[in-house]
Amino acid sequence: MSDYHKTLFQVPKVSLGFFPTPLQRLNRLSDRFGCEIYIKRDDFTGRSLFGGNKVRKLEYLMADAAAKGCDTVITYGATQSNHAMETVTAARICGLKPIVYLHSLVEPDPEDLRANLLLDHIYGAEVHIVPLNGSTLEETKERSQSLARERIAELESQGHKCYNIPGGGFNGVGAAAYIAGYQELSSQLEKLGISMQYLFSACGSGGTLAGLAAGKKLLGSQTEVIGIQSGKKDSGYKARIAKTANDALDYIGQTQVSVSEDDFICDDRYYGEGYEIPSEKSTAAIKLLARQEGILLDPVYTGKGFSGMIDYLENGAVPKGSTVVFLHTGGTTALFSEHKIVGPLAE
Ligand SMILES: *Cc1c(COP(=O)(O)O)cnc(C)c1O
Repeated sequence: MSDYHKTLFQVPKVSLGFFPTPLQRLNRLSDRFGCEIYIKRDDFTGRSLFGGNKVRKLEYLMADAAAKGCDTVITYGATQSNHAMETVTAARICGLKPIVYLHSLVEPDPEDLRANLLLDHIYGAEVHIVPLNGSTLEETKERSQSLARERIAELESQGHKCYNIPGGGFNGVGAAAYIAGYQELSSQLEKLGISMQYLFSACGSGGTLAGLAAGKKLLGSQTEVIGIQSGKKDSGYKARIAKTANDALDYIGQTQVSVSEDDFICDDRYYGEGYEIPSEKSTAAIKLLARQEGILLDPVYTGKGFSGMIDYLENGAVPKGSTVVFLHTGGTTALFSEHKIVGPLAE
């Protein structure tokens, strides 16, 4: 084991999934685009049927919760949030009480709960739906936070200890998981005797990208790390990701390297009209990968991410002959969510 590997494993971690996840070559798409295209199957991290990038992050976050003696876990997201559902799953695996505050960007039908929101209920999580009611997403997220603060105060007055996880698991502890994820992918590529020039991932909170950028710096790799955004972000987005990457390096005690905004790309050209709104290119990308390779993507994140990668392959931004990896971050439960989110996939 490298020194780096040993140090990383000194931070606490619980086992929630199956690792290493498979790395597969996309044979037909490699032929079609004249590149070596691989897919890293982090949709298979699961312990339940449904994996994704949040399982990696939660191995570190839940261990931190346990180390701090918490018995309750609280987190946030949209009603169909993968992060919220994976947190609820992780809490049940670890024997902690799950509480989620979910903003209803897409209004759920209480008589016909779908996908992740249905799973949250099967797991018996304490679910709080926070409607937008005409306010902005930012205002609604703040309302979720203040409702949660009240609930935490109430629980702590009853002797409970709460672990508060930000939306997306976006902090240094969660992002540290993708330093390990980057290392796992690098050693798989090394075994195959290949090196990747480009690594694509869908990005939301940016924690996964933060970990990947930190992993790249730590290994001294020259790979171009490209995040394809799943929604609109403010101008501080990249700075927050770089800071979180450095927090992750700090958390694992590797401060000899640091991440700047030049170490990764955030591309905002592929989310279409917005988060949880299907885009034409994403719908086409989902059908393409399903029909060419028998692999499913989701309409909210990976479909948009994959559509961005296809555009890079088609427009020459990725030169012919390059080796490219797409990180499949999961989320396929969204295929069974509200039609507004799924879009025209059946057509
Ligand atoms: C959360 C999520 C992402 C984005 O990951 P971040 O670390 O929040 O940027 C990508 N894909 C899927 C399926 C997700 O659930």
